[in-house]
Amino acid sequence: MKIKVWILLALGCNFWASAQYAGPETNFRSPLDIPLILSGTFGELRSNHFHAGIDIKTQQRQGLPVYAVEAGTVSRIKISHWGYGKALYIAHPNGYTTVYAHLQKFGPEIEEYVKKLQYQKQRYEVEVFPEYGELTVSKGDTVAYSGNTGGSAGPHLHFEIRNSLDEKPTNPLLYGLSVRDATNPNIAGLFAYPLSDSAQVNQSQKRIELQFSRQADGTYLSEPVSASGLIGFGVETYDRQDLAANKNGVYRVVQVVNGKTYTDMDFKAFSFGETRYINTLIDYPHYARYRNRIQKLFLSAGNRLSLYNTLYNEGKIRVVPGEGYQVELRVSDLAGNQTVLRIPVEGKKLPVMEPAEVLKTPYYVHADKPGSFELGRAQVYFPAGTFYSDTYLDLSSDSLLVKLHEPSIPLHRNFTLTFDVSHLSPDSRRQYFIATLDDEDRPQFQRTYRRGDTFTARSRNLGRYTLARDTVPPRVEPRNFKEKQWLTNYRYLSLRISDDLSGIASYSGTLNGRWILMEYEPKTNTLTYNFDDRILSERQCELVVEVTDNVGNTTTFQTQFFRR
Ligand SMILES: [Zn+2]
Repeated sequence: MKIKVWILLALGCNFWASAQYAGPETNFRSPLDIPLILSGTFGELRSNHFHAGIDIKTQQRQGLPVYAVEAGTVSRIKISHWGYGKALYIAHPNGYTTVYAHLQKFGPEIEEYVKKLQYQKQRYEVEVFPEYGELTVSKGDTVAYSGNTGGSAGPHLHFEIRNSLDEKPTNPLLYGLSVRDATNPNIAGLFAYPLSDSAQVNQSQKRIELQFSRQADGTYLSEPVSASGLIGFGVETYDRQDLAANKNGVYRVVQVVNGKTYTDMDFKAFSFGETRYINTLIDYPHYARYRNRIQKLFLSAGNRLSLYNTLYNEGKIRVVPGEGYQVELRVSDLAGNQTVLRIPVEGKKLPVMEPAEVLKTPYYVHADKPGSFELGRAQVYFPAGTFYSDTYLDLSSDSLLVKLHEPSIPLHRNFTLTFDVSHLSPDSRRQYFIATLDDEDRPQFQRTYRRGDTFTARSRNLGRYTLARDTVPPRVEPRNFKEKQWLTNYRYLSLRISDDLSGIASYSGTLNGRWILMEYEPKTNTLTYNFDDRILSERQCELVVEVTDNVGNTTTFQTQFFRR
């Protein structure tokens, strides 16, 4: 019995490694009937996560029919203001689940199912896992229409293929979807890192940027590097496909040193559980400062990513004085286009001109131990595992302003920040909240838990925190109609809602006393009601919209209109 399992596992591994996903058991069609041009690839480096699918451009339009790529059953529907917006999950008999996100709306049958649920729950944001077989679809059915809902910066379809068993997202382009791509990946930046205390690169103990140039054979050559000790490299790289200027993620990055593969990583699949470790793969301090992502070819503390096919000596190169090293970086896309960059390294111990800088403060945290610090009226608690490595922190407080280092250090877990608010009158206290200050000193709302004389917030972002007060209720104004207007030919009502400081927490609308579904789009501050949802029997309609901000200030907007 045990042996059998092992054989199966071994077969499975081979199957995995050789990337033969698109076996005879999958025969997915395209989710759209336009040529596939991508504005995002699988594994692409995003904020705190790897991109779990592909982003297909929809010709700057919304409302394109989205097709079920294979027969199956709807396993999940989720509607949220953020993230995937309106999203549909279809489980297929072949063991995969496909995900379609940022949708404008669903196909008729699913749309009716969802609306019924929304009216029942009296909420726009819903999540449901229909029974197996409750909502079945055939291959090619129009299951939705493409849109721009949730955290989407422009009309596109976000499409994923997950393993149904473990929810692992896999690279959708490994299943035979065709994307025109004859363009080589681009290397936009090359960096060298001294990694041990005594290491140096070009007489520096800090990261340095290296210049490189294109050679006659199409490969790239870096300026020569002199180094000693343990060093590593990092690249800033992106891939373009044909027919679009979008800078997408690359598929595979390989580092070879004197003919030996030190690093080989690619994006066939990953798990959502590991996605936040992206912050150990990129040079995070550089990213926090410049918003550019350098992908390191060596392992940093806390990196538990499963993306490596090969990792020798953690991708780090031990440079011995007197020896020469030919480092070759190969960056490729899924179509097989490859860019090669060579770095000649000479082992040499030279005087250090740029010594390492170590910030030492009274505040030190161990990655594997909790840490707690008193800061005036505030207290911060970092649970064990918050940090990827042991580090000194720059902490201070000045009245109600608390400085928790800089955003330059990534955190894996939430810390807890508690303010003593006993100095605030119980009356005004309700309008206060914990806020972070952005670069322009604007307070950003943090979910604030109130208990006795304390306010508490949890966050994974270091930076400046304070208490802010919001005394102004939200604004509500009609967008496409006026009071007492005849709206017989109108298909929908549109209102603009906004809040100046703490942000919108909830909203609801009624028409002649009955709850109506209002779709909220935070990107455009819009609330929309579709007249199709309800047959109105009355001519005279009274609309009431109530909007509440995050500290409980409420605005009630009332208006009348006519319709027949
Ligand atoms: Zn996407």
